[in-house]
Amino acid sequence: MQANNEISGERPNAVDADVLERIKAAVGPKGYTLDPDEIAPLCQSWRDNWHGWVPMVVKPANVDEVAAVIAICAASATPIVPQGGNTGLTGGSQPHATGTEIILSTSRMNKVREIDVLNNTMTVEAGCILADLQIAASDADRLFPLSLAAEGSCQIGGNLSTNAGGTQVLRYGNARNLVLGLEVVLPDGRIWDGLRGLRKDNTGYDLKQLFIGAEGTLGMITAAVLKLFPKPTEIQTALVAVPDPGASLTLLSRATDAVGEQVTAFELIQRRPIDFVLEHVPGMTDPFAEAYPWYVLMEISGQGAPDSLRDAVEALLGDGLEMGEVLDAVLAANRAQGEALWKIRESIPEAQNHEGQSVKHDVSVPISRIAEFLERADKLLEAAYPGVRCVAFGHVGDGNMHYNPVQPLGNEGADFGAEYSNINRIVHDLIHELNGSISAEHGLGRLRRDEAKRYKSDVEVDLMRTVKDALDPTNIMNPGKVV
Ligand SMILES: Cc1cc2nc3c(=O)[nH]c(=O)nc-3n(C[C@H](O)[C@H](O)[C@H](O)COP(=O)(O)OP(=O)(O)OC[C@H]3O[C@@H](n4cnc5c(N)ncnc54)[C@H](O)[C@@H]3O)c2cc1C
Repeated sequence: MQANNEISGERPNAVDADVLERIKAAVGPKGYTLDPDEIAPLCQSWRDNWHGWVPMVVKPANVDEVAAVIAICAASATPIVPQGGNTGLTGGSQPHATGTEIILSTSRMNKVREIDVLNNTMTVEAGCILADLQIAASDADRLFPLSLAAEGSCQIGGNLSTNAGGTQVLRYGNARNLVLGLEVVLPDGRIWDGLRGLRKDNTGYDLKQLFIGAEGTLGMITAAVLKLFPKPTEIQTALVAVPDPGASLTLLSRATDAVGEQVTAFELIQRRPIDFVLEHVPGMTDPFAEAYPWYVLMEISGQGAPDSLRDAVEALLGDGLEMGEVLDAVLAANRAQGEALWKIRESIPEAQNHEGQSVKHDVSVPISRIAEFLERADKLLEAAYPGVRCVAFGHVGDGNMHYNPVQPLGNEGADFGAEYSNINRIVHDLIHELNGSISAEHGLGRLRRDEAKRYKSDVEVDLMRTVKDALDPTNIMNPGKVV
């Protein structure tokens, strides 16, 4: 695993004492911490590969306090690291090790301000935990569809700032598609109130989209108007064994022909990560009597009566069996069985950790090129690293795979992690050739910032720099990340 920005026990405080005093006065005693034990976990990443230090974590209670803090930081050129649930995977939410920055946390800004059932929207503060928003929507008999394995910890402000994807993008889009309005504090401390719940608004640039996916480099998102959807009343979940990734794509194509946008999730999983789950996660069993090379976890959902989609799914799988596109299938009999199938998929990242060092990729290509990507990437890596165990799983319905080669067996003494950049280069050069993206849903942060420059055109890099300079000319918002 890459290790970056190690701080080796040092806890520097390079923020002007007067700045810290003014921030304390702006947010009151509950609005900050100087306690090293409380600060330490907020300075390291979920995968423990990014570390840094700040002398103060600021926890404002509302947008006015956020604005006051950012104005103080702007006047004193004090850099700010915005932070939500700290589950980001690219080093965007952790500070550098210089002690010159503060963390600005949304953890106390967690109110649902309004649910407008007729408008199908909810207006929420940035610090709301994603799982809590799913429950709030459900309590209003609506669905908020953003869903990812970190949903018990990540916050909506972080989800929007990373333009998070997750498992239901195929049907509902990623975070960017789920927002109608934003409230943002700009790098100079001004508040932009863009909390409009409009589905049509053609009055110039769509400013909210600038801040979504900006990873805190253009301003601090403090609230959002989110889209709600009807709750599905009927869900069919199937784990389908397929011979190869190509077959998964034809199955997806037939599924969308048959039931249209009711195909809600479509995940491709190679056998090797299933083996890891069965070996390392207690209580997991193989739903099939024999092993198959690839699997699709498919969810089809709609508004009909219970089991009204079952015939369509059975026909889809039955035709697939006859055509050789499907080798076997388990169709969940009820919601609990469906959740058990999802548990296999969700356990993969944890299970993989037990297999030694791996090199992570979160890549996308046009869906039609997924099979070509997987075949060519495996060949390239096997040639360069004999015995490497390629691992692939992900949101194939969105053209997005998590492709994480693991160190060869019997190679425990060697430092496979030292090959991180070389392996990234092999995979990402191929992705570029296939007209794909080196970061499909996790963002750039620090992890992919410099690599992105290799693959983006000069024009694109220049446009991004121009936007950053225009909004944040003194570079106080999350410096060193993204651009
Ligand atoms: C187990 C696990 C599974 C995951 N699965 C997925 C997945 O399926 N799909 C996916 O897309 N991601 C996934 N992620 C990555 C991560 O959960 C998402 O990126 C999530 O959206 C981050 O939310 P957060 O609140 O934790 O943000 P943080 O980690 O706190 O911050 C992320 C970035 O946003 C900035 N930021 C945070 N809040 C604000 C704000 N209010 N205003 C401005 N900038 C802000 C931070 O500075 C940082 O750059 C996963 C992570 C884990 C640990």
